[in-house]
Amino acid sequence: QPLAIVLDGPAGSGKSTVAKEVADFLGAQYLDTGAMYRAATVRLLELGVELSDQPLVAQQVAEMVFSPSTNPLSEQILVDGTDVSGQIRLPEISEVVSKVATNLSVRATLVEKQRAIIDQAVASGFPVVAEGRDLTTVVAPHAQVRAIITASEEVRLARRGKQIPGQDAAKLADQVLRRDRDDATVSNFTSPADGVVVVDTTDLTLEESVESVLALVAN
Ligand code: C5P
Repeated sequence: QPLAIVLDGPAGSGKSTVAKEVADFLGAQYLDTGAMYRAATVRLLELGVELSDQPLVAQQVAEMVFSPSTNPLSEQILVDGTDVSGQIRLPEISEVVSKVATNLSVRATLVEKQRAIIDQAVASGFPVVAEGRDLTTVVAPHAQVRAIITASEEVRLARRGKQIPGQDAAKLADQVLRRDRDDATVSNFTSPADGVVVVDTTDLTLEESVESVLALVAN
């Protein structure tokens, strides 16, 4: 029985790195749902859409075609045939992605696309590891393994700082914490739903974090 493993958590919790390592270890497919929200944001800005225009944003995202790589070793996403992998992590995208992600019509569209990708992976006989903010509660509440990956605020900010060298620390902290606050208004990734396990990686190495998730799979 192919397995679906879904991980939620705040920015900088280490969930992407853990998810990719778990997927690689299991020979599973991998889905970064945040990359889809980021890719939608890149495309909207390219189209010149005002992000506060909720109906227009929703309509445009509904028409977009997303092709995320499901290989945990290759981080790639195309939107409407264009590779936007190089743009999705830019600070100016991180800064505004929550404006798009708090649009409830956008969420309905992307949740449906994410479910289709997960279902297709499972149907093709592969396990799948997916990560984001609302996988344990909305996208895949029936997944066999559901966990929230978390870490203390201090550790999360330090991890993010390492990923984006040269960015002003106070500015980065403001941005990450505001993004979490905004994201938490539409998704529950801070407290576990029924049946969801919390993995606190504050004092864990990456290897230990990966092992904690793999232990859930073995159970
Ligand atoms: O995981 P990552 O930080 O790349 O996600 C980028 C943004 O996408 C989040 O800040 C959030 O606004 C949105 N997101 C979401 N639901 C998900 C995954 C990401 O709202 N399942």
